[in-house]
Amino acid sequence: MLIIMKTDAIESQIDTVVQRVEDMGLRAHLSKGEERTIIGAIGDGRPVMKDQFLYMPGVDRIVPITRPFKLASREFSPQDSVFPLDGVDIGGQGIVIIAGPCAVENRAQLLETAHAVKEAGAHALRGGAYKPRTSPYSFQGLGEEGLQILAEARAETGLPVITEVMTPEQVPLVCQYADVMQIGARNMQNYSLLHSVGESQHPALLKRGMMATIEELLMSAEYILSHGNRRVMLCERGIRTFENTTRNTTDINAIPVLKSMTHLPVILDPSHATGNWEFVTAIARAAIAAGADGLIVEVHPSPELALSDGGQSLKPERFVEMIAQVSAIAQAIGRCVAPSKAGLSTGCVHV
Ligand code: PEP
Ligand code: MN
Repeated sequence: MLIIMKTDAIESQIDTVVQRVEDMGLRAHLSKGEERTIIGAIGDGRPVMKDQFLYMPGVDRIVPITRPFKLASREFSPQDSVFPLDGVDIGGQGIVIIAGPCAVENRAQLLETAHAVKEAGAHALRGGAYKPRTSPYSFQGLGEEGLQILAEARAETGLPVITEVMTPEQVPLVCQYADVMQIGARNMQNYSLLHSVGESQHPALLKRGMMATIEELLMSAEYILSHGNRRVMLCERGIRTFENTTRNTTDINAIPVLKSMTHLPVILDPSHATGNWEFVTAIARAAIAAGADGLIVEVHPSPELALSDGGQSLKPERFVEMIAQVSAIAQAIGRCVAPSKAGLSTGCVHV
């Protein structure tokens, strides 16, 4: 339930409403907008008498939230959530591009890739230090050494970094190095990890599980948001279907559907969604046409030597082409690729 305060409600009236919400055993989430304050009263599903709030001083009206996810819903926050990442707005009019290798393999590989993606116009660098691999015998990532290499690439290029965190125990360490913590598809319903990432108050990128519904993705986002951590972006990365020509099936529907259901930024990962570099650019274009706020793309200077996901990684020159094509699509729908540190942007066309 949302308690919408009057535009002229005073602080003490807001405090009294919050107190009553808490006295009823509910959680109060305050959202102070430019015009008015909205108090989200989050309970355990038991019915709450809305009249108990309706006649309190300063209260304008009560709006029930019908979705099982509350804080993630558009009802809770009709405006798109936008948060800055090192000067670039995530979820704003500009499309944000995150790129880099699947895994940090060594210093030279990461630094070369970091410079290449920066020159091409990427806004953030990706690279896994802790890798969730299907086989325990596959490369598992460099761990903390990988995080240190990411920090070096960040210092050299100025690009913020995003890297996966796999366990609650890793959260404090990964927070020290990463600008955004990635929760991978396999961990989308790792609830203790979601709680830890929420508690950290650190920006998060939450990937959709390969067999998760859109609603389950939003319920997982709700775990992070329930700790007051509002800097969450969602990522569609393809789901499992009967189709086995590609690694996954891009659920392109998920983009406009998510945008209608939630205020959170939505990005797409065309690399894992297709599993084949030949199709990455086409699906990147489709994502932007469908309304995605950004892309996370695997790029490797020598994909044939990659320790993971080489087959779906773009070479830097192909990544340059991808950005050019994505920019054209963005402009066609009144958006743009956000200005980058490389100074590449065609500028947003305001509609
Ligand atoms: C990755 O980003 O390299 C990754 C493992 O992705 P996902 O969790 O979507 O499989
Ligand atoms: Mn990968």
